[in-house]
Amino acid sequence: MSTKVRVRFAPSPTGHLHVGGARTALFNWLFARNKGGTFVLRIEDTDVERSTEESYRSVLEAMKWLGLDWDEGPAIGGDYGPYLQSERKDLYREWAERLVSEGKAYVCFCTPEELARKREELKKQGKDIKYDRQCRDLSPEEVKRLRDEGKPHVMRFKTPLGGETGVHDLVKGDVTFSNTTLDDFVIMKSDGFPTYNFAAVVDDALMKITHVIRGDDHLSNTPKQIVLYEALGVPAPAFAHVPMIMGPDKGRLSKRHGATSIGQFKQDGYLPEALVNYLALLSWAFDGATDLFTVEDLKRKFSLEKVSSTPAVFDYPKLQWMNGEYMKQRSIGDRVDLVVPHLERAGLVKSPLDDDTRSFVEKVVEVVGERLKVGEQIVDLAGFFFKDEVEYDPAAAEKFLRPLHVGPAFKILEERLRALEEFDETTIDPVMRGLVSEMGLKARDLFQPVRIALTGSRKSPGLFEVMVILGKDKTLERLEIARHKFT
Ligand code: GLU
Repeated sequence: MSTKVRVRFAPSPTGHLHVGGARTALFNWLFARNKGGTFVLRIEDTDVERSTEESYRSVLEAMKWLGLDWDEGPAIGGDYGPYLQSERKDLYREWAERLVSEGKAYVCFCTPEELARKREELKKQGKDIKYDRQCRDLSPEEVKRLRDEGKPHVMRFKTPLGGETGVHDLVKGDVTFSNTTLDDFVIMKSDGFPTYNFAAVVDDALMKITHVIRGDDHLSNTPKQIVLYEALGVPAPAFAHVPMIMGPDKGRLSKRHGATSIGQFKQDGYLPEALVNYLALLSWAFDGATDLFTVEDLKRKFSLEKVSSTPAVFDYPKLQWMNGEYMKQRSIGDRVDLVVPHLERAGLVKSPLDDDTRSFVEKVVEVVGERLKVGEQIVDLAGFFFKDEVEYDPAAAEKFLRPLHVGPAFKILEERLRALEEFDETTIDPVMRGLVSEMGLKARDLFQPVRIALTGSRKSPGLFEVMVILGKDKTLERLEIARHKFT
């Protein structure tokens, strides 16, 4: 009988959830869903100085927004809780004491000052910075005496002095580490908190985790974790180390490349299903003609075999394109909801919207159509609909509004438009085209000046549609203002 898959995502609440962490969470989640397994969320908050409640909440919120629901973890509990490491301190202490009493770990009384001095010395001599194992062989009596005196101490693991530790990584293949490179690393800190490596192993063992899927920045921790499993007499889980995500310049993805936190993408007006689809393709691929996968597809298709060991580059334009694809599938109501916060932030509407404003925004979103790929773009694409004054692109205004024919053409156009009883595309069209041919112009010689007068820019949604949405009064007003200003 094969064991049921149990995987975990184990963020440290020291900041927002970034794309790297989200991709790790997603791979774990997809793997669990694909295998009918269990996805555990565990919060690694043993770094008391850096962990914050705010970050904890924001990580959970980002997970929920992406739709990565956990089967065990904060808020819902489970059979292997608690799921916050800060609530599991007694367990780590118990296990550490057990290792000490079995002679597999030891209590170390070296002070931080002493250690710092020794490190300096080693550095000067150009040697590897490693603990000199001074306390490794203290007698049990000596240890007891110093502990009874209340002398501050840490606990260190007795790493094997020779040999190798190997791991068959499901992404990287076979990796071996010489044990001499492993220090007698600390498992319990002097503040009574466990270190990351120790807590992760104790928890992964107790939570019966079968596969550890995480970023390859943790590969170097793996031998330490494996020797700990051996010492604890617990079989190690399988490991899959996923390559880091790179920025377009091939450096590790960071803020200087663009948004990196999930919260920021949300705020910029991305859709969760687009991000999930995009993140899934970072070092994972499925042969086929398309990059578009619904969450259901991903759950069905995901496998660790197809995770590549080559780092993926975060391609912002591709994500934008993908978001646009998912935007097309959203209802007009959804798209309106998505753009309203952006219009509001730009001071163009006030929430809550009254019915008239909402239906106006709806028309605007409709006319902008597929040009709108990301929520925040609404301001650039359609801000002119909402502003009292047109902001002209100066170069475009010079080029298209200054020519001599524009003033007289606008004057006639204004008269004819004013005379229209119905102001819609079918009535505007003949007026515009009629005037073009009467004056012997090219369509562009009238359409571009009108477009710039109404929108301020050379690019806009369909001109007649823009006129209809603005309405007759605003259209006439803007034509007149431009005529006075430029002709
Ligand atoms: N708390 C660790 C991190 O956020 C988890 C690493 C692991 O998955 O073991 O990097």
